[in-house]
Amino acid sequence: MRPLLTYSRNVFIPVTNVCRNRCLYCGYRRDEGKIIDRKEAIELLERGASSGCTEALFSLGEAPNKVSGFGALLKKTGCDDLIDYIIELSEMALDKDLLPHTNAGLISKEDMRRLAPYNASMGLMLETTAEVEAHRSSPGKRPELRLAAIEAAGKLKIPFTTGILVGIGETEEDRVRSIQALKKIHEIYGHIQEVIVQPFDPKQGTAMSHLDPPDSETLAETVRMARSILPPTVAVQVPPNLTDPLPLVEAGAEDLGGISPVTPDWINPNKLWPTPEELESRLSGFELRERLAVYPRYIDLGWCGKMTQTLVKRLAGPDGLRRRD
Ligand code: SF4
Repeated sequence: MRPLLTYSRNVFIPVTNVCRNRCLYCGYRRDEGKIIDRKEAIELLERGASSGCTEALFSLGEAPNKVSGFGALLKKTGCDDLIDYIIELSEMALDKDLLPHTNAGLISKEDMRRLAPYNASMGLMLETTAEVEAHRSSPGKRPELRLAAIEAAGKLKIPFTTGILVGIGETEEDRVRSIQALKKIHEIYGHIQEVIVQPFDPKQGTAMSHLDPPDSETLAETVRMARSILPPTVAVQVPPNLTDPLPLVEAGAEDLGGISPVTPDWINPNKLWPTPEELESRLSGFELRERLAVYPRYIDLGWCGKMTQTLVKRLAGPDGLRRRD
């Protein structure tokens, strides 16, 4: 029997690229940022639904409310409150049979509590527990704040995606410490469904554009390390548009994350998604299956958001992965 390898078919909705941080590797944040309007969002959701997606990935810059001018942008949507707007977008996604998964950056526990019922799962990258130069102008990347937010999600029983960024100035020991910190939180709350091992990807026009991404052996070693530290119920995920996934799944990664047939990876827009057919061919030693935004274990526990549960039941097969028919 071939080992199982999963992915989720998603549509990527860039809610806003306004962000209070200035990570030195970021190509997503804009000084003159924008917020998606309802018409654009509906068009993307409809394209996702008609292309067989099951997940709407909502991605935001962090704490845009703290950036001057964002209030005026938000007002154009007719909403005074960003969380209210994300909830409305999530309801639109559910109407199209798409399960919301929101990456809102660092938000308060109260805001997580408000978003949770509308999300099958949520996410926040830890990135690293180290203090790195790449984060010198990013107050939201302080490791203790991110660990506290991941812990808050655990207290709220939110199935959660997190991960580390490899190659942003951290050492090998830092990577071990980051994974150990995630393991420690998961041991208490049991809510982490997957940990992404994501390579730094240099982008033109950024302060780190001249640096090399981590090599394949470093990534494979990081996957092996993560796999050996994390409990088997937590999947190790690698993004197949940023690196050849074969050596990484051979090193123990079990998930390829969200892959979109309709939208680019807005965080790494030059890196095209492989198609499922290309992945089948490259990873022929593995059984490639679609999963939902929430992992089977959390469906059984009833932890996915209340408003998503009917759709989750409809989309999931007996094994908790996407129904094959
Ligand atoms: S990487 Fe994320 S948090 Fe950092 S500046 Fe870009 S959008 Fe903001």
